[in-house]
Amino acid sequence: MPILTVNCPCCGKSIPWQPEQIFKPFCSARCKEQDLGAWATGAYVIATPVEDMPEQDYQVPPQHDDYNY
Ligand SMILES: [Zn+2]
Repeated sequence: MPILTVNCPCCGKSIPWQPEQIFKPFCSARCKEQDLGAWATGAYVIATPVEDMPEQDYQVPPQHDDYNY
């Protein structure tokens, strides 16, 4: 059975996807911490504009008894 490998998102190193690889998908604690640090420092900006969604007049469709034959 071939061992599934993944690439570390941080450094791109190929690592085996195994339970022993506790830092997966990262290759090491170092890379994991680097990635988490990047999040903490705002290197990754969530590109979701926070806008107030306009209130929709949500009309509940009338219930039909279409299934009562
Ligand atoms: Zn790495």
